Amino acid sequence: DIALYHAKGGGRGRYAIFGQAMDALVQERRAVEHDLRIALEGNDQIVVLFQPLYSAGTRRITGVEALARWHHPTKGWITPDAFIPVAEDTGLVEQLGDRVLRAACQAARGWGAIKLAVNVSVVELRNPLYPMKVANILMATGLNPHQLELEVTESTLTDENGICAANIEALRELGVLIALDDFGTGFSSLSRLQSLAVDRIKVDKSFVQGLGTPGSSDAAIVEAIIKLAQATGLKTTAEGVETIEQEEHLQRAGCDDLQGFLMSKPVSEVELSKLLQSQDEQKREKAS
Ligand code: C2E
Ligand code: MG
Ligand code: MG
Ligand code: MG
Repeated sequence: DIALYHAKGGGRGRYAIFGQAMDALVQERRAVEHDLRIALEGNDQIVVLFQPLYSAGTRRITGVEALARWHHPTKGWITPDAFIPVAEDTGLVEQLGDRVLRAACQAARGWGAIKLAVNVSVVELRNPLYPMKVANILMATGLNPHQLELEVTESTLTDENGICAANIEALRELGVLIALDDFGTGFSSLSRLQSLAVDRIKVDKSFVQGLGTPGSSDAAIVEAIIKLAQATGLKTTAEGVETIEQEEHLQRAGCDDLQGFLMSKPVSEVELSKLLQSQDEQKREKAS
């Protein structure tokens, strides 16, 4: 095996192999960028799926999270983890975010009073015009600002130049809610929760996964996060709930909302409408 031979040989060969791997990576990223540009010019490759969020106590759908998918003409379905980083590095994430937000707001208008959560990249939030963009999309689609919750990451809150913080403030003045996504994986300390300008935290799925596993410290961490959030008046959502054991654990801990494959995976707009409809029918049956 040539790669192994060179690597073992060390010296110059090692750099050559490293260089080749880098070249391949750069080329792959260029290809993704090129194809993503084309995808954003058309209107059939970028698709938005919706994953329901459930009230922990009643298992009723209280909201949905919009999740982007890319249907590539030759590679098939591509998940966000494979294209969001490229979109961020190239600035294309602004166009992508615009697309997803618009489509999601449009879809959510027909769903009654449930909440719509949309992910925002730190790159989008660094644009001073971002709140205006959101205001325009809300106006164009007619969605109530109080129904929209933007999910930001911890990196947004520690962004140096202050634009992100000012934008978050401006968005909240519009009536839009802010959720802190993937909580626990970044650098925010629990003690800072109180001073964060957010309405909700989403406990990262890496902590939820360990609930019910003997010897794991995840249960203690999740309980501490939820307690502190409650004490500071923040709502909590747990993401990545896959087992009944995890669900029961989170209910006991007082978590407000749950999201995960146990209840529902991300589904199409049509499928979501069906889920909401059957929930309404159940409610009517109970009432009569
Ligand atoms: P996220 O915002 O933390 O979204 C939750 C992710 O967890 C989604 O992955 C969802 O499909 C997945 N998930 C939900 N329930 C479960 C579960 O029970 N088990 C497991 N293992 N996973 C579960 P997805 O759709 O692949 O998205 C990955 C990330 O990509 C998102 O993480 C978000 O950070 C980013 N993303 C997705 N759509 C957009 C977008 O429109 N704009 C931006 N900026 N980022 C996006
Ligand atoms: Mg999210
Ligand atoms: Mg998340
Ligand atoms: Mg996550």
